Amino acid sequence: MSFKSIINQKKAKDIIAGQILSGKIPHAYLFLGPDGVGRKKMALELAKTLNCHHPNTPIALGTSPAAVLTEPCDHCLSCKKIDTATHPDVQTIDFEWQARRENKELEKQRSIKIETIRAVQHEISLKPTEGRWKVFIIDPAEKITLDAANCLLKTLEEPPRWTMLILLARHKENLPATIVSRTQSVPFGPLPEKDIVAWLILNGGLSNDDAHEIARLSEGSLTTALKLVADKTTVSEPLLSRVIRPDAATADLLRISQEYAKTSDAFLDKLLAEAKQQFRREPHRFAPMVAEILRTRQLISKNVSSLMALDALLLNLNQRGT
Ligand SMILES: [Zn+2]
Repeated sequence: MSFKSIINQKKAKDIIAGQILSGKIPHAYLFLGPDGVGRKKMALELAKTLNCHHPNTPIALGTSPAAVLTEPCDHCLSCKKIDTATHPDVQTIDFEWQARRENKELEKQRSIKIETIRAVQHEISLKPTEGRWKVFIIDPAEKITLDAANCLLKTLEEPPRWTMLILLARHKENLPATIVSRTQSVPFGPLPEKDIVAWLILNGGLSNDDAHEIARLSEGSLTTALKLVADKTTVSEPLLSRVIRPDAATADLLRISQEYAKTSDAFLDKLLAEAKQQFRREPHRFAPMVAEILRTRQLISKNVSSLMALDALLLNLNQRGT
């Protein structure tokens, strides 16, 4: 793994490279963009670069003179520990981390709580044990509660010199302005369809036709593309048609909603991609459906139960579609 292995995202690489080169590395980044486009991978590669025992020769990333990024060596103990998520100074603070810490079920995690942020702040106050930098990746930052966000401000204002916080979020509109203004935003765009096609053919062993079909539905997200590959029914029978079929029984719709409640983000991505495709053919019929899906995504980002939100959405779409 290395920066070179991150598909596209030249703008993000340029921003980070420029800051590493100038030695003005901020203590808090906000990586903004859709799921599955390389935000987490970039955060981990940055953590490796900051802590690598033998940083490699710089590599040119683009045409801009500042676009040079020191590659991590990928072989030292620090790089290997980060790659295997065992480095004590580099941690991803997500629902899994929180569930482990609280000894609770992962499925019950709905938000990143103030207790979690306090625990992170305690960790941050201690010097690194092995590396030069302590790196905390908070994912997804949209799920930080307001209390927890206010608590985090203190650290963003006066971070210990060895600290790097990297917040991953889809849209900055879902975060308090105070957090956004105290972090360095780095934009990540959807991946070009041709890059996803190439990746699926090369690494997924897909035929040219299948790779194009999936890339078209993936909306520039490699994660969505991989889920689509895994969920073959989606390719043969689009989700949206299952939902808006006139003969779909309420029980079937609620079963679909139950099935996808835990992966509601990816489910809504798929549904939205399909609705947008149909919208190009029948704008009047599908525009309200696109709006409904977007509204549901917003509700879930504000911690409304994903099962309830999906139940309401699917029943609503079925009524509109028939
Ligand atoms: Zn290394």
